[in-house]
Amino acid sequence: MGTAVEKDNMFSDSDEVLIGLEIHVQLTKLKTKLFCGCATDYRGKEPNTYVCPICLGLPGTLPVVNKKAIDFAIMVGLALECEIPLKTFFYRKNYYYPDMPKNYQISQYNKAGGVPIGLGGHVTIEINKQKKTINLTRIQLEEDPGRLTYLGSITSSDYTLVDYNRAGITLLEIVTEPDLRSPREARLFLQKLRSIIEHLGVADGSLEGSMRCDANISIRGGNRVEVKNISSFKAVQKALQFELIRQRRQKADGVKTVMETRHWDDEKGITISLRTKEEEHDYRYFPEPDLVPIEITPDWIEKIRSQMPELPDARRERFIRDYQIPPYDAGVLTSSKALADFFENCIKLYNHPKIISNWIMSDLLRHLNDLNIEINESTVTPEQFVNMLKYIDTGTISRRSAKKVLWDMIREGKPPEQIIQEDGHQRIGDENVIRQFVDEIFKEYPQAVQDAIKDDKAINFLSGQVMRKTRGTADPKITYQLIKEKIDLLRKKAN
Ligand code: ZN
Ligand code: MN
Repeated sequence: MGTAVEKDNMFSDSDEVLIGLEIHVQLTKLKTKLFCGCATDYRGKEPNTYVCPICLGLPGTLPVVNKKAIDFAIMVGLALECEIPLKTFFYRKNYYYPDMPKNYQISQYNKAGGVPIGLGGHVTIEINKQKKTINLTRIQLEEDPGRLTYLGSITSSDYTLVDYNRAGITLLEIVTEPDLRSPREARLFLQKLRSIIEHLGVADGSLEGSMRCDANISIRGGNRVEVKNISSFKAVQKALQFELIRQRRQKADGVKTVMETRHWDDEKGITISLRTKEEEHDYRYFPEPDLVPIEITPDWIEKIRSQMPELPDARRERFIRDYQIPPYDAGVLTSSKALADFFENCIKLYNHPKIISNWIMSDLLRHLNDLNIEINESTVTPEQFVNMLKYIDTGTISRRSAKKVLWDMIREGKPPEQIIQEDGHQRIGDENVIRQFVDEIFKEYPQAVQDAIKDDKAINFLSGQVMRKTRGTADPKITYQLIKEKIDLLRKKAN
C-alpha cells in the first residue's frame, strides 16, 4: 500500500482512465472439485495424484455438480448484491491447450441464451474518504485448468510438464464494468472483494494463485489494452501503473496505443506485447450436454441468505460503534479478514480496543508494509502483541522501547519476552543505576548544567541525553527527578 499509492498522482493529467477487472477466485474452502470427488488441497503435492477419470476428461465419464459449490457461489452473489437467476446453465468453452485435458472448459456464458450464477452486482470502496460504487457485469462458475510447469523458465526449458491436480478446482470468475479510475482504486477494489470473500468463508485468498486477475485499461478515447498474468493483488497496482504511464507517454508523443493483449512480467516490472489480434475468440460455446440446468429456488436463496456471516461493511460499523474507533481506522482494520480477526483476538486478551487499534494502525501496519507481508504471513500472534502492550503498562519497557521490540518481533519472529531480555530493552527503574548515567551526563555537558542551574527548562536537554545513553530504557520520571535534585543541590552551593 504505502509508497506505491502516492505514485498515482504523478501525472496531473486530467485524462480519464478506464479500468475493468476480470478476477478468478478459487473457492478454496470446498473439500472437493467442481465436477468430481477429488480433493482440493493439491498445493505442494506430488503432480497428477489429485486426479480421477472425470477431471482427466477420459472418454465415457460424466461430470456431477458439487452442490456446495453452487451454495458458495450463491452466497458470493448475494454478498455482492448480484441478481441470482432462478435457472443457470453450464456451457462448454472449446479450445485446445495442454492444461485442458477435455479440450473444453466447463464454464458459464451470458450470451446466446446462457445465464451465469450472478448478474450485475456491485462492490463499494472508499477512496479519499468518499464512497464509490464499482459495478459488476457478472459472476460465473467454471473449472480451473491444470498447471504447466517448465524446468527453469518458460524460455529456457526444453520441455513442458503438465500437472492436472488443479484441473477441475472450482473457480468463480468475477467481471467488473470499466468503473475503476486509477490503479489505486483497482487495488482497493480487490482488497475489498477479497475481504468479502474471506468473511464469507468460501476462500482463503492468501493461498498462492487462489486469486488471479486480468485487467483492461485505457485512457478515454484511446484503445483498450488487456494485461494478463497478474498473479498477485500486490502486482495489480504496479502492472496498471506501468501500463498507464506507457499509454500516457504514447499519447503525449502522438502515438496511437495499439489494441492488444500484454503480459505482465513481475520480475522486470513491465508489460510485454503478447498478441494484437483483439476480436473475441470463437470458443464455440454451447450448453454442456452432460449437465442439466440448475434450478435455484427462492427458498434455496433465502436459506443461504439467512446463513450469511457478518460482512466487512457491517463489521466496520460494529467496530466504530462497539470499540469507539475512527471510521477510517475501522475501514483499514476490516479491509482484511485476517487483520480484523487479529484485532478482535487481541481485544479478547486485553480489553483496550483503542490502544490496540492505534498500535496496529501506526507501527504494526507500517512494518508489515515495509516487509510487503500481511498479518497472517507474519509470526506475530495476538498473545505476543498484547504481551508487548502489557509490558508497557507494567513499566517493564518504555513506549519508545516497545516500538523497537515490536519491529524485532515482526522481523525476527521472536516473542517480546525474548527480545526484551536479549537486547536489554528492560526499563531501568533502579535509581542507583540511573544516577550513574546522570553523573556521566553532568560531566559530558558542563555548559548545559550551568544553563539548567539558571533555568529548569534546560533539564529537559540533560534528561534527553540520559534517555539517549540508555536507549530510551531509563524511567523518564525518575531521571528527571534525579537531575532536578542534583541541579537544586548545585544551586544551593552557588548561593
Ligand atoms: Zn477428479
Ligand atoms: Mn474464466
